[in-house]
Amino acid sequence: MSYQHQYSDGTHIHFPMGKVVCVGRNYAEHAKELNNPVPTEPLLFIKPGSCVVPLDGGFIIPLDRGAVHFEAEIAVLIGKPLSRQPSREEVLDAISGYAPALDLTLRDVQAKLKEKGYPWELAKAFDGAFVLAPFVPGDSVEDPADLGIRLTINGEVRQDGNSRDMLNPIVPLIQHIAGHFSLQPGDVVSTGTPAGVGPLQQNDELHLELLGHAHFAGRVL
Ligand code: ZN
Repeated sequence: MSYQHQYSDGTHIHFPMGKVVCVGRNYAEHAKELNNPVPTEPLLFIKPGSCVVPLDGGFIIPLDRGAVHFEAEIAVLIGKPLSRQPSREEVLDAISGYAPALDLTLRDVQAKLKEKGYPWELAKAFDGAFVLAPFVPGDSVEDPADLGIRLTINGEVRQDGNSRDMLNPIVPLIQHIAGHFSLQPGDVVSTGTPAGVGPLQQNDELHLELLGHAHFAGRVL
């Protein structure tokens, strides 16, 4: 998979699919609902590009590994290389787009891994574990520190968050990440989920919104 990204001036650019850098417990209310302590620095993990699937047309979930939780998140597409603690301006310049996404999590598998202190890949990096809607251009979002995300399932709003409630706001988060490992064009940063996570079922109808910017539909096949 790769992205074709359309800019507001009509030009477009192709990105290879890179890695997805995720942050856990970036909204205090979500940390609380899973009885997790609020971390003192960003809790990072990486999903490989191979687990990314598009939202439109529907997606499948594993049916034999316990609960598959949805986590609606604001995903940020990186369009320029970033490394070694870039400045705020460099990060803003490197942001190519924003999209709503689902960081799917095998919650029962994750609970067992957490109990043993093991890494989370079995719960987080399976094929299809990152469901991505199309990106809206980065320059169409005036203030990344005030960006709403909403997930509606079968007509019921299940998650309704805003980046202003993040413990690590988008730009400082990306600065922090790039201080630990370089980000390349085509990489995605997934910025954590607000409260309200829960299990997906087959045939669920989903609406994912970047409030005021874009609205996308998808379905669990
Ligand atoms: Zn997440």
